[in-house]
Amino acid sequence: MADQCLFCRIVAGEIPSTRVFESADILAFADINPQAPTHVLVVPRAHVAGILELDAASSTWNALIAAAQHIATDRGLTNGFRVVVNQGEDAGQSVAHLHLHLLGGRTLAWPPG
Ligand code: AMP
Ligand code: ZN
Repeated sequence: MADQCLFCRIVAGEIPSTRVFESADILAFADINPQAPTHVLVVPRAHVAGILELDAASSTWNALIAAAQHIATDRGLTNGFRVVVNQGEDAGQSVAHLHLHLLGGRTLAWPPG
């Protein structure tokens, strides 16, 4: 755990969140500032700063995608949804703990702007 990392503190339960999915390696919780009716953040429990720091040979990416599939199915997002990873300043990453944004429940514009 990275002491000052917001999402590590959410994983540890030190900061409250609305949890929507949990497995051994993954936690998913509602985004505090939702941009769609479903806006869930899917994070590895272990601290990884971003997609560049992820060990591509690890099982983490597969576990993140499996969690996103589970949540999308559970929410009935049969008409579509979007999965986004922001990496670094140019993409507007504001929390340096790898996370998928899972967005759905309405038509989403493309490109996002
Ligand atoms: P990003 O800008 O891609 O790093 O995404 C960070 C996301 O974390 C934003 O969508 C924020 O709304 C969300 N966020 C920040 N603080 C919290 C919190 N305490 N609980 C849930 N989501 C949060
Ligand atoms: Zn962290």
